[in-house]
Amino acid sequence: MNSKRHRRPVKRKTANALPFFIIAVAILLAIFVIGQVDIHVGNIRVNYGEPFVDDAKVTWFGFDVTNWADVKGEVDTNKLGVYSMHYSFMLYNMSRTVTVVDLKEPVISLYGDEKITLATMDSYQELGAEAWDNYDGNVTENMTISIDQITPNYAQVIYEVSDSHENIASAIREVEISPGTVYLTFDDGPSGLTASYLDVLKEYGVNATFFVLGFSEIKESWKAGIINRAVEEGNEIGMHGYSHVYSDIYKSKETALANFDTEKNLLKMTVGIEPQVVRFPGGSSNTVSRSVCEGVMTEATKAVVDAGYNYIDWNVDSNDSGSDVKNSDNIYQNVISAVVPKVGARYVVLMHDGGADHSATLEVLPNIIQTLQEKGFVFDVITYETEPVRHGVNN
Ligand SMILES: [Zn+2]
Repeated sequence: MNSKRHRRPVKRKTANALPFFIIAVAILLAIFVIGQVDIHVGNIRVNYGEPFVDDAKVTWFGFDVTNWADVKGEVDTNKLGVYSMHYSFMLYNMSRTVTVVDLKEPVISLYGDEKITLATMDSYQELGAEAWDNYDGNVTENMTISIDQITPNYAQVIYEVSDSHENIASAIREVEISPGTVYLTFDDGPSGLTASYLDVLKEYGVNATFFVLGFSEIKESWKAGIINRAVEEGNEIGMHGYSHVYSDIYKSKETALANFDTEKNLLKMTVGIEPQVVRFPGGSSNTVSRSVCEGVMTEATKAVVDAGYNYIDWNVDSNDSGSDVKNSDNIYQNVISAVVPKVGARYVVLMHDGGADHSATLEVLPNIIQTLQEKGFVFDVITYETEPVRHGVNN
């Protein structure tokens, strides 16, 4: 018996697989190490005092691995300066600078209303403001205040301030300039000058109210033409009455009312209008009627209102049918000194375009309108709806 065992070396298959394993691991490791790592960072600026939110992003093969990245460095946004931040993932490193800068402008707070209404800009009294900056603190002392009057009716108070890093802030307070409303009224026309009055009104873009008198439908038909033009150009026609003769008008409340009704019929026939606004010859406060009929104004004013008219007096007298009829300077002064800027004010200005030679009124009319426009007054016409200016009855 052959007990001797013959051992034959066995060739191990695994011995041949080892290099392949090593190569495979090496490849995987290489992929792991040199794989596509991207660190997305750039130099940035951060505003002073605001939290620094790190926007760095690290990806590996497109996967977000930011949370596994190693971040070194700190940013104190309460201190201006340049900070370095370092990011690493596996063998990869990136650095960037984060600069804390003051980019924020101061904040201006206005005292009082941001929008105000005044009669004149001259009457503006500075309401004040304060300015605070995130870095410099109170910068009110550096603030400048200027006034820019853009139109006669609108101005801006402008507040400007800069902080120590040239961040500029501005604020505006709006001012509406509202000195009041002017109603220009012309009595006793139309006359040969009325067309020139209309030319002036047109040139300045304003309208007026003409309290016209009666006229001969045949001999003075041109008057109907001028009234028609006045209407077409946006002016209002009121009635002064068919007659201006006190002894005829103020015999009774009936004659006073008839003076307007007759006029209305004339205007209806000649111009095709039926005015509802009237002005008593002499005004509702006249006392000249007393010698004609005691108490007639008390009754006539009621009768006229009952008949559907709105009667209007005036609160500014140009005196152009009084002692200043030939004095254009005085006419100008009489109007301008009485038309005082006041929020909500209403001025009914008595002037004339008939009954006498009113070339002095015509001459100064452009100056009056221009001065009032420069002050921001608004011009309007008187209609039935207009709240009347009335003197009060004295007879
Ligand atoms: Zn008159």
